[in-house]
Amino acid sequence: MLSWPAPLLPTLPGTGPVLKVHDTARGEVVATNPDRTARMYVCGITPYDATHLGHAATYLAFDLVNRVWRDAGHAVHYVQNVTDIDDPLLERADRDNEDWIVLAMRETALFREDMTALRVLPPEDYVGAVEAIPRIVGYIETLLDEGLAYVLDDGTGDVYHDISRAPGFGSESRYDEATMLGFFAERGGDPERPGKRQPLDPMLWRGEREGEPSWPGPRGAKGRPGWHIECAAIALDTIGMGFDVQGGGSDLVFPHHEYSAVHGEALTGTKPFAQAYVHAAMIGLDGEKMSKSRGNLVFVSKLRGEGVDPMAIRLALLSGHYRTDRAWTPDLLREAQQRLGTWRRAVAQDSGAPAGPVLHGVRERLADDLDSPGAIALVDAWAAATLSGEGEREEQAPAVVCDTVDALLGVALQDC
Ligand code: ZN
Repeated sequence: MLSWPAPLLPTLPGTGPVLKVHDTARGEVVATNPDRTARMYVCGITPYDATHLGHAATYLAFDLVNRVWRDAGHAVHYVQNVTDIDDPLLERADRDNEDWIVLAMRETALFREDMTALRVLPPEDYVGAVEAIPRIVGYIETLLDEGLAYVLDDGTGDVYHDISRAPGFGSESRYDEATMLGFFAERGGDPERPGKRQPLDPMLWRGEREGEPSWPGPRGAKGRPGWHIECAAIALDTIGMGFDVQGGGSDLVFPHHEYSAVHGEALTGTKPFAQAYVHAAMIGLDGEKMSKSRGNLVFVSKLRGEGVDPMAIRLALLSGHYRTDRAWTPDLLREAQQRLGTWRRAVAQDSGAPAGPVLHGVRERLADDLDSPGAIALVDAWAAATLSGEGEREEQAPAVVCDTVDALLGVALQDC
C-alpha cells in the first residue's frame, strides 16, 4: 500500500549515542542493539475515523526512535500495517450506510496527510491487512497443521490459537490471568465463548458471516483474519523474527502485542518476536483518555483545518514524555506555538550561543528513553541565550541548532 512522502532529513556532524528504550517485557529501560539496519514494527490504524492526538502522539514517539537510530548511523527498516478489515470498520460503515472500502480508503488517505504534515518519517513497508490475507491464511494453515490451532466445532468455521500450546504466553505483558481476562473482554476478545479450549484463546480466522466481506481462507473456509495474526504475519514477511522494537499505544500491551508475539513464536519455533516492546502513553482530554469509544477526540486534521501549524502540534505532543499519560489542553497548544515562535526567531539570528552543547545534549536526552521534554528544555535555553544577545557567540550556531531540531525532534523551523 502507498506510504507517504519522506521529509528532508538533515545530516548532523558526528553520530549520536545508542538508543535506550523502556521494554514492557523486561519492565526496565534497555539499550537497543540493532544491526546495521534497525528493524521496527509499529501497529497502524484501523481506518474508520480520522487521526486523533492520541494516535499522533504514538507515531511521534516512534518517529523519534527512527530519527535517533538514523543519527546513530543505522539504516531503519520501518514497517506499519493498516487494519483495513475489522469489526469497528464494518460497524462504522454500516452505521453511516457507506461502503467499508470507501471509508477505509478515505481515512487512510487522511492519515497519510496528517503524518506528512507532522513530518513523520514514512514506513518502508506500509501493508494493508486485506492485501496480506493470502499470506496470513498460509500462516494459519501452518498452525492448524502443527496442531497449535483448532477449528471451533460449531459450524462457524472460526479458528483459534490453542494458548495452552504456547509456552511463551504472558511474557510480553507479564499480566496475571485475571488481568488478562479483564482486558481481553474489554478489548475485543471473547473469553466466554462456548467451545473454546481456553477462555484466553485468540481468534485467528473468523468464518464467513452473512452480509460481511470474506476471502478464501485456511483449508478453503471463507472468512477474514483476526487482528493479532495480521501483525504477526506482516512482521514475519517484512522484517522477520527478533526485530528490534515492536511499538504501539499502551492499550496494545494486552491482548494485541502478547498474541502477535505468541503467534510469531509458534510459527517460527524461535523467540523473542521482538527484542523490545515499547508503549506510548495515552493522551487525555478533560480528565479522560482520548478514545473513539468515549468520543472525546481532537483530530489532527481539524486543528490543521483551523490553521494550526502542524509543527506546533508536534511540539505540544513532544513536550511531555512518551510514557506519561498526559492531557491535551488549549494552554499546551498555546505554549507550543509561543515556543515555536521563539525558536524560529532565534535560528533567524546572524549568530547564536554555542551550538555544540545543544547538539550533544539533545542527542543524549533523546537516546535516554526518548526524553523529549529534556531535549526541548535544552533548545529553550539556547534560544533564550541567543535572543539575549549576550555571552559567547558563534556564526554557525543558528544553522546547526536548526538542523538539530529538524533531524532529531522532527520540527522544521525554517530553511536553515
Ligand atoms: Zn499490530
